[in-house]
Amino acid sequence: MYDLLIKGGTVIDPSQSLNGPNDLAVQDGLIARIAPGIASEEATRVVDVRGKMVVPGLIDLHTHVYDGVNGNGVEADLGGVRSGVTTMVDAGSAGCDTFGGFPRHIIPDNATEIICFLHICRTGLATTPDIFSPSSIDLDKTIQVASENRHIIAGIKARMVSPALEIMGMEMPRLAKRAATEAGIKLMVHIGDTEKRYDPNVIRQLLPILEQGDIVTHLFTANPGGVLDGEGKVVPEAMEAKDRGVWLDTAHGRMNFSFDVGERVVDQGLVPHCISTDLTLPGRARTVHSMTEMMTRFLTMGFTLEQVITMSTLNPAMAVGVDDRLGTLAVGRQADISVLDMEEGDWVLYDVVGGTRRTDKAVVPVLTVKKGEVFEAGWGPRPWGWEPDTA
Ligand SMILES: [Zn+2]
Repeated sequence: MYDLLIKGGTVIDPSQSLNGPNDLAVQDGLIARIAPGIASEEATRVVDVRGKMVVPGLIDLHTHVYDGVNGNGVEADLGGVRSGVTTMVDAGSAGCDTFGGFPRHIIPDNATEIICFLHICRTGLATTPDIFSPSSIDLDKTIQVASENRHIIAGIKARMVSPALEIMGMEMPRLAKRAATEAGIKLMVHIGDTEKRYDPNVIRQLLPILEQGDIVTHLFTANPGGVLDGEGKVVPEAMEAKDRGVWLDTAHGRMNFSFDVGERVVDQGLVPHCISTDLTLPGRARTVHSMTEMMTRFLTMGFTLEQVITMSTLNPAMAVGVDDRLGTLAVGRQADISVLDMEEGDWVLYDVVGGTRRTDKAVVPVLTVKKGEVFEAGWGPRPWGWEPDTA
């Protein structure tokens, strides 16, 4: 007997080129079988998902879940298993002086899996601004904490913002890269100066520092320091970075997503690998809303459903280096599954600079399976639930 049977849905798993009717059986927290017409009698529990999409558990590559420590932190399960997401990557909420709460309190308190990037600023994002002096960075302790927590820390995070850049210049991302190299992990860099003060050409000095496997986040930012130059052209260093295997993520957040910038970037051939939210408590209420709404926005921008699912499952798994375990529904892998619905209506989507797009399709979460355990989607981030704003 299987523990769980997800029956009657359309299984879309780009990692196995699957897109069609299939049933999915789970046993002992692992994917046990994918086949059409698995009999209900073969499972202890059957969940009927006719008319729904069954995809690998969504991975949100950029979130902030230091709930109860940082003021903006979201409770992970709220943006995670209750929102169709099985794994959240925390992008630098904690630094070396404040990281201890993640393994002690946050990770054991949530069913959603949490993978951390350690901020190069010793106090992470506990205070604003994060880096306000060279003493905001403790390189040795950062390397030590990262090395001691390799099972939950995938990389080092740096933010190309003022005043850090005004105080330290390129020394700041170089120290972050050094910490990542010495700890044997990745570097994730936030681009786009949210204070709008620093030299926009800094992107051309930053990108050559990044190696294969490192991650650029906020690819569609309209803030100075994004990948478009003054004429709206993608800087050559961005294409070179992609060509040598740097991952491109689009984290939306409260300040770093423009439909117009995104379309210009994509039209010039720089296609991002990953979709993520940059979820915070205020961002969830006002700008980001949910991972599934991010997927809706990319559908509206012209990405295909299969591309959007790849960008929310397989690609972020590879970007974090957990694709041996997550991002796929292959038999024998961890049973992380998202069941989603595609609703039809007439809605309008907003970016963070006043841009809008109309849409007649919206992705919404139905339920999530994490290591074989089933979680129903919670109430959505808006007063009426998950759907976008009415047009
Ligand atoms: Zn962020």
